[in-house]
Amino acid sequence: MALEITVLGSGTSMGVPTIGCQCDVCTSPDPRDNRLRPSVLVSYEGRNVLIDTTPDFRAQALRARIGRLDAVLYTHEHADHIMGLDDVRPFNFRQKEAIPLYAAPDVLSVIQRCFRYIFDGEKKESNVPKLVLHALDGGPFDLFGLRFVPIPLLHGSAIIYGFRFGRAAYLTDHSDVPETSFEQLRNLDVLFLDALRYKPHPTHSTVERSVETARQLGARRVFFTHICHDLPHERTERKLPPHIRLAHDGLEIEVEEGA
Ligand SMILES: [Zn+2]
Ligand SMILES: [Zn+2]
Ligand SMILES: [Zn+2]
Repeated sequence: MALEITVLGSGTSMGVPTIGCQCDVCTSPDPRDNRLRPSVLVSYEGRNVLIDTTPDFRAQALRARIGRLDAVLYTHEHADHIMGLDDVRPFNFRQKEAIPLYAAPDVLSVIQRCFRYIFDGEKKESNVPKLVLHALDGGPFDLFGLRFVPIPLLHGSAIIYGFRFGRAAYLTDHSDVPETSFEQLRNLDVLFLDALRYKPHPTHSTVERSVETARQLGARRVFFTHICHDLPHERTERKLPPHIRLAHDGLEIEVEEGA
């Protein structure tokens, strides 16, 4: 089975350009320096599985011309990863069905609190998203014939999930990929890693650290994401090994499901 990964957003929580900022990257004419909040779409066999609903989800779905949505997976509950949930409504209308969400139990409870009107069971005068919640227990799960494996990551002191599917893994928002997760990350053709900037940050990895993680994991192609305005696309890539690139919004990557 062939999978296609579309990068819907490659930026950090505030996005690039950052509101009010006039730095070289925020004012860059290179479209790759425009980064919406972090998310990818995984497409296979006519199905579209979304990882995270960012505050930019509406713009991302229009730009990528997403015609249907079959499931949403959540990495964690931070605002830059959940706040676009209300914008799944057009898919409810078009598909005439509820959309399944998959997340760790603590992430689901934050989503239920933040979007109380969706889940309070009260009769509404207008439409709210129709969703079916599935709590992840940490084990792998199948969606439409493809196996997804939650990968525990350290995001500061929190443990959040990345996901492996086929020969690809999407690991956003981590300060560290714990060695206990390495075994599930062998034999990857495509690996996404958080690389916020050069300067250390308590909850995000740096370019240097993610280059080292990429080396340890030995993935064939690596894409950095969750990038802030410290990293100009072209100049940063020039300093990276050829198999490591910065992701950019709209990037499409084909990968095999593999064994
Ligand atoms: Zn984030
Ligand atoms: Zn800036
Ligand atoms: Zn986060």
